[in-house]
Amino acid sequence: MFPYCNSVFINGDPSVLIDVGSGGRAYHQLRKQVDIVLLSHNHFDHINGISFFPNAQVWASREEAPGYQDASVYASYNGYQHWEKLMGQPRKQRLAQTTVMPDDIPVQPGFIPIDLDGIIDDGLKWDTGKEQIIALHTPGHSHGHYSFWLESSGILFSGDIDLSPYGPWYGAENSDFDQLEASVRKLEQIDPAVLITSHRRMFKREEADIPQLLRDYLDIALQKEHHVLEYLEKPRTFADIADQPFISTYPTQTEHTKFWSRMMLLKHLKRLKAQGLIVEGEEGHWYRYR
Ligand SMILES: [Zn+2]
Repeated sequence: MFPYCNSVFINGDPSVLIDVGSGGRAYHQLRKQVDIVLLSHNHFDHINGISFFPNAQVWASREEAPGYQDASVYASYNGYQHWEKLMGQPRKQRLAQTTVMPDDIPVQPGFIPIDLDGIIDDGLKWDTGKEQIIALHTPGHSHGHYSFWLESSGILFSGDIDLSPYGPWYGAENSDFDQLEASVRKLEQIDPAVLITSHRRMFKREEADIPQLLRDYLDIALQKEHHVLEYLEKPRTFADIADQPFISTYPTQTEHTKFWSRMMLLKHLKRLKAQGLIVEGEEGHWYRYR
């Protein structure tokens, strides 16, 4: 779990490591062996261990490459400019001030400058001898989120399309629910033998219906959207909707989880409005179109 993530090591020639947020202890034997690091996306828990691999070539997505070089671009991805409006008061604490890092995570949450050696685009392939790695652009969680398909062994690494029991996360400025929905459908079609996500145990085809798990995962968000639509039978303010128990479902409630839940709610309201299902009234009330 945050601030860690799962990594995948492909012991080929070249050897490849996907994501670097598993902590220094996990990488103890790997440090000198990695030729190429592929970053699934520019979130702290996936990139915080980059300094463990000073000799590796680092690749990241075209979409998020500017966010590894420029702190203000990185900051623009998170959506904190909406904090005061959505939360009713200014942001008091940075995420780094509210979380204590374990001793094998070498940096604090926030901007991590990384010099990139390669740019990832959809369909790009790396040949490691025994394995081909294919990049799949799967935006939604973030705009430059990539999954990686290891075709020969039937292993799909789906990053933060992570099958969390709390559903998908799309709470940043550069997150998009329509894109996320399309990305999950795309991964469903692959029907891999093994699914590795960033934050859960491995799922194997003989033990689990992987396409169904992906559908169930997306359904958590679609159910939430359905609840919102039901609730809007009467005009409601954003604050009214945001305070409903079906909106913020994380087991630990912090100012940040509350903010992300509200960002996700805002995306659903805009989506329902674009579909012509709800209307935003003059007084800031939302209601179902009839
Ligand atoms: Zn992420």
